[in-house]
Amino acid sequence: MQPSAAPAPKKTLSELHRRRVRVTLWIGSALLIVMGLGWGLFFFTKQAWAIVAADVAMLVLGITIAILTHRRRTRIAFFLLAGCMLVIICGISLMLDIPDAQAPRSTHHFLLVLALSALLFLRDDRAVLRWGVTGACLLAFVVLASSNFGFPHNYVLPDGMRIWGTWVNNSFSAIGIYLLIHVMVSDFAEHSAMEVDMRRGLLRGEFFLVYQPQVTSHGTVTGAEALLRWRHPALGLIPPDDFIPLAEQSGLILPLGAWVLGSACTQLVAWSVHPDLSHLTLSVNVSVHQFRQEDFVQQVKSAMERTGAQAHQLKLELTESALVHDVADIILKMEQLKKLGVQLSLDDFGTGYSSLTYLKRLPLDQLKIDQSFVRDVLTDPNDAAIARMVIGLGDSLGFAVIAEGVETAGQREFLMQNGCYLFQGDLFSKPVLADALAQLVRASVPPPA
Ligand code: C2E
Ligand code: MG
Ligand code: MG
Repeated sequence: MQPSAAPAPKKTLSELHRRRVRVTLWIGSALLIVMGLGWGLFFFTKQAWAIVAADVAMLVLGITIAILTHRRRTRIAFFLLAGCMLVIICGISLMLDIPDAQAPRSTHHFLLVLALSALLFLRDDRAVLRWGVTGACLLAFVVLASSNFGFPHNYVLPDGMRIWGTWVNNSFSAIGIYLLIHVMVSDFAEHSAMEVDMRRGLLRGEFFLVYQPQVTSHGTVTGAEALLRWRHPALGLIPPDDFIPLAEQSGLILPLGAWVLGSACTQLVAWSVHPDLSHLTLSVNVSVHQFRQEDFVQQVKSAMERTGAQAHQLKLELTESALVHDVADIILKMEQLKKLGVQLSLDDFGTGYSSLTYLKRLPLDQLKIDQSFVRDVLTDPNDAAIARMVIGLGDSLGFAVIAEGVETAGQREFLMQNGCYLFQGDLFSKPVLADALAQLVRASVPPPA
């Protein structure tokens, strides 16, 4: 069997981004550890036990974030860091760093660093989250910068120390802001360059499809999922997770998705002339942006008419996020597609927010159990329960159920024992080129006549 994978890319955009995020987290955790230790010792000498306890908490937090970053749990590490930094900076500004005529407040300048890092970290997140965190930091900054408000008590830092601290705080926050702006500009430039590369790649035919077989419990290959790959001239083979989000942000997903649809239909026609391949169905991933286009149904119809592909062999994979807005319009489009004869599958099922009442209104043919549940189905009772629930749900609503990401015979056994008889995953084959898929189909158990 010929695997589709070529040499791994040198350094993709997402890897660069992830590395920057990790470096920033390391710096953040180091800062917390140093601050916790330094302030802790200082207030220890003053016997200010309440503040020493807060400093110990800061130290523990720094160590926790370092451990999470080491384990690559960067998202939770970021939220922990951002939340705690916000509290710490506001706490210090209001309780220890109260401005007077001799020494201005300076601790709050770190809120600007925090606001910028939120923009960087949450770059690919929902706008409401990104701007929510950034806005909270900026609001706190403006309030602290524009007022002398504070809670004076015995431990307020002496002016001599605060004047010295002003220089330190202002220098470090200025360096932090400069570094983050530099990183963001590089990020932006790389994004733009990648977008230009993608447009060029589409024109130059650098994109291609690989196919991952879908197999029954008897070993018969009934179809495949078409998965997009990009052979970048400099970076090598880039997996879709590294360019589809950018294509979605830039709108390039529309021509790219249209190309995928056309190529998938062409492949179906190529298979149709071989008796041993003509039964295959082909699943095509449809992005939410594609599906929301007014003329999406017409585009599917035109692709089939142009190529001569049979509608019943085309299966469109939608994700739950494509189905959350304007339910009436979505159902109308899905019904129009069904009238054409196209099949509809709900991909990554269980990871979104579909309500059950909503689900039963959708004219679906198939539910796809997400691979995140299949992965630990044998070891995690929650995942096992979710997998069972999806299979039961599919049964009662009259949808076929397929499990993706099946890697071991044990997982397949579990799924079969619970009533799922259609699989996709590395256990059967990684995604391969069309020729290799044809060999796989010929080597597999033929479908019943
Ligand atoms: P998806 O549609 O859920 O596709 C399944 C992904 O799981 C594929 O990753 C496949 O290679 C991977 N996979 C399948 N079996 C296994 C397994 O046993 N173990 C492991 N570790 N992985 C397995 P891939 O090809 O990297 O695609 C990732 C995602 O990119 C897809 O997830 C889909 O959401 C998106 N994508 C791929 N092609 C297209 C496309 O043409 N259009 C759109 N809009 N999205 C696409
Ligand atoms: Mg899919
Ligand atoms: Mg999936």
